[in-house]
Amino acid sequence: MATLEIKDLHASVVTDEGSKEILKGVDLTVRSGEIHAIMGPNGSGKSTLSYAVAGHPKYEVTSGEVLLDGENVLEMSVDERARAGLFLAMQYPVEVPGVSMSNFLRSAATAVRGEAPKLRHWVKEVKEEMSKLDISPDFAERSVNEGFSGGEKKRHEILQLNLLKPKIAILDETDSGLDVDALRVVSQGVNEFAASNEVGVMLITHYTRILKHVKADRVHVFAGGRIVESGGAELADELEESGYVKYTEKADKAP
Ligand code: ADP
Ligand code: MG
Ligand code: MG
Repeated sequence: MATLEIKDLHASVVTDEGSKEILKGVDLTVRSGEIHAIMGPNGSGKSTLSYAVAGHPKYEVTSGEVLLDGENVLEMSVDERARAGLFLAMQYPVEVPGVSMSNFLRSAATAVRGEAPKLRHWVKEVKEEMSKLDISPDFAERSVNEGFSGGEKKRHEILQLNLLKPKIAILDETDSGLDVDALRVVSQGVNEFAASNEVGVMLITHYTRILKHVKADRVHVFAGGRIVESGGAELADELEESGYVKYTEKADKAP
């Protein structure tokens, strides 16, 4: 059992022009076996939340806490966060020319496990996991994310989850074209992953349609830099019908 607790988290983005507060008091607890969907309009700070938890240098936590099984995540380096069992899809670079998937995944596994997996075992492990996800074997030799389709990027994400076996996974489903195939891959992967009861998932998304496939235990509406409403799957249906307007108004009225 693992628990990620985010308590009254405030964070700012640091730019050349100075710093601007984006997260305005986020409270959220995610336990193993649970899928939490974080939904909200563009620009509400959803990605900032994952960057702040990931420890991205551009985002400065100004107050609040992030605890993983009681340990202070905010004091950990990015590698230490991975070793503690946090998986943040974002911490992995978009494209890494010249680095094969196989080597990239082995470095990630080394960071998480604290020692390099034995090469022979590793190759076998990767092959098995790839075949479960219908990933073609030549994928292992391709450069990381270079020329990957949307579906391939998503398969890669789920492959990482299955190999790295984190305690808590934060997946930021950026709004850029998740096609039907990619949607199916990520949804199946997330459902199976959470069903194992060994991992908690925070699924950040703009679109309600992903929740037709992912069985979220809790749905949270994110607006104006914080969670303004929480509920069950029915909340996603309501959002599908009425959109975010009601909630952005609520966020605007907040102090
Ligand atoms: P979401 O993921 O909900 O669309 P983001 O967290 O990406 O929202 O952005 C929240 C706000 O913070 C936006 O107004 C955005 O312009 C601003 N922001 C986020 N990252 C940066 C950055 N690196 N530089 C400048 N502004 C940023
Ligand atoms: Mg506050
Ligand atoms: Mg975003």
